[in-house]
Amino acid sequence: MSAATVDLMDYSDVIDRYEPVLGMEVHVELGTATKMFCGCPTEFGAEPNTQVCPVCLGLPGSLPVVNEKAVESAIRIGLALNCSITPWGRFARKNYFYPDQPKNYQISQYDEPIATNGHLDVVLDDGTVFRVDIERAHMEEDTGKSLHVGGATGRIHGASHSLLDYNRAGVPLIEIVTKPIQGAGERAPEVARAYVTALREVLKSLGVSDVKMEQGSLRCDANVSLMPKGAKEFGTRTETKNVNSLRSVEVAVRFEMRRQAAVLASGREILMETRHFHETDGTTSAGRVKETAEDYRYFPEPDLEPIAPDAAWVEELRGTIPEYPWLRRARIQSDWGLSDEVFRDLVNAGALDLIIATVDAGSSVDAARSWWVAYLTEKAKERNVSALEDLPITPKQVAEVAGLVDAKTINNKVAKQVVDFVLAGEGEPGQIVEAKGLGMVSDDSALQAEVEKALAASPDIAEKIRSGKVQAAGKVVGDVMKATRGQADAARVRELVLAACGVEG
Ligand code: ADP
Ligand code: MG
Ligand code: ZN
Repeated sequence: MSAATVDLMDYSDVIDRYEPVLGMEVHVELGTATKMFCGCPTEFGAEPNTQVCPVCLGLPGSLPVVNEKAVESAIRIGLALNCSITPWGRFARKNYFYPDQPKNYQISQYDEPIATNGHLDVVLDDGTVFRVDIERAHMEEDTGKSLHVGGATGRIHGASHSLLDYNRAGVPLIEIVTKPIQGAGERAPEVARAYVTALREVLKSLGVSDVKMEQGSLRCDANVSLMPKGAKEFGTRTETKNVNSLRSVEVAVRFEMRRQAAVLASGREILMETRHFHETDGTTSAGRVKETAEDYRYFPEPDLEPIAPDAAWVEELRGTIPEYPWLRRARIQSDWGLSDEVFRDLVNAGALDLIIATVDAGSSVDAARSWWVAYLTEKAKERNVSALEDLPITPKQVAEVAGLVDAKTINNKVAKQVVDFVLAGEGEPGQIVEAKGLGMVSDDSALQAEVEKALAASPDIAEKIRSGKVQAAGKVVGDVMKATRGQADAARVRELVLAACGVEG
C-alpha cells in the first residue's frame, strides 16, 4: 500500500485536534560471546545453522542455563535508565508457534522483569529536555530467521519455499518498554527519534551491544495513538514494527499520526494492530491484529532458577555506569574551550574518543584534534577505512608524534612522513625518526653552513635582504629546507638568514 491510497490529515490539523500518545519498545541484542541459555557463539554473519546446539534448537531433554554476563548487562541497562532492580524475579514462558522458534515458546520475563520504573531525560534538537518514563526492561531470547525464497519481494507471499537459520535463536535480548509518552504534542515524532537516539547512545556507552540498527542488533517498535484534545482516555494504539533507522522512527510516528487522524475524523475506528513500516516511501501498512497477553498463556519457566541478584552486586554494577554520553560531551567541550561548530566537527568525524585518548597520552588538545580530524581523516578516506579507530595507528603513537614536534625533534612536515611510516607498519614514531635519520637539523653550526651556502648561491637576493626587504628571505629559507630534506626548523632557519644579513626579523 502506498501513501496515495491512504487518507492523511495535514500535520498542523492533527496537532490542532488531537493529542498524540507514544509507546516505544526497543529490543537490543546483547554483545555477549555466547547465547542466553547455552554456550553457542553469537557472532553475526556465520554460515546458517552453524551456531546451534540441542538447547537453542529445543531438542527433547535439553535444559537451559542462564548466561550470567547477560544478567549483568540487563542490570547495568536498568541502572543506566534509573530503574529499580528486582531482588527476585522469574523467567516466563511465552507460548506461541512460529517456525523460527523451535521450542514452541520463547523464554522471556513477564510480570517479574529484572528492571522497572525508570526514566531517561532526552535532549531535543533545541536543547530542551524531555523526560521519558521507562516501564520496564526485561530479558528474553531472540528467534531464528526465516528466509522466504522464490518470490519477488522476499516476503512469504509469492515465495516457493522458506529456509530457516537458527543461529540467532537464543541470542540474549533486552526489551526496553516506555510508559505511555504524553505531552509531546507537535514534537511527538521528534521525541520518538530523540529517545531512540539517546537510548542507543547509552547502550553503546555501556558496551553491552553494538547497537547496529541496520544489522538488527537494535530494533524499534513504535506505538502511536491519538486522543481528541481534552479527552481523558487514551485512544486505540497501533504498533509499527521494526522501524530500522533513527530517521524512520520519526517518519513512522508522523505518518501514523496523520493516518490515524484521518481515520478518526471520518468517524471510523482505529484497529489495534501491528503495522509494517516501508522505508521506501515512509508509509505503514496493516499487519496482524494484536494478540493480548492472555493469548500467550504466560507461566513461570520451570526449567530455570529465579534471578536473585544480591544488593552488593547491584551496587557494584552501579559503579560501572558511565556518565551519559551527551553530558560527557558537554563537559569535555567546555573543558577544552571549543566552539559548538569545531566540537561538532570532531564528534561527527568519529574522533572524540581518539582525541581524548591522545590527550590522555600527553598530547595537547590542538595537536590531537588536528591529527585526527585533518590528516588522519584524510588517510582514512584514501585507504577506504570507514572508522578512524580502524587505522593502524594508536592514540599513543599520535601523541608520541605530537611530542616529537613539540620537542622540535621533527617539524610538521616530517611528522606527516613519520605518521605515514607508522601507518605502513614500520614501528613506533621515535624509532622511525632515529632509524631513518629524520631528526631535525637543530645544530646551529650545521644550519649556519647551509644558510651561507644558500646566500652565496643567490647574491641578488642576499643583497635585497641586506637592504631591509625581509620578505625576500623566504626563498633562501626554502633553499635551506630543501638542502636539509625538510628536516630543519624553518623558523630557526629564517632567524639565521636574517642574522647573517644583519637585519632584524
Ligand atoms: P505489547 O506486548 O502489546 O507490545 P507492551 O506493553 O510491550 O505491549 O508495549 C506497549 C507500549 O505501548 C508501551 O510502551 C506502552 O506504554 C505503550 N502504550 C500503551 N497504551 C498506549 C496507547 N493507548 N497509545 C500509545 N502507546 C501506548
Ligand atoms: Mg511488546
Ligand atoms: Zn545453543
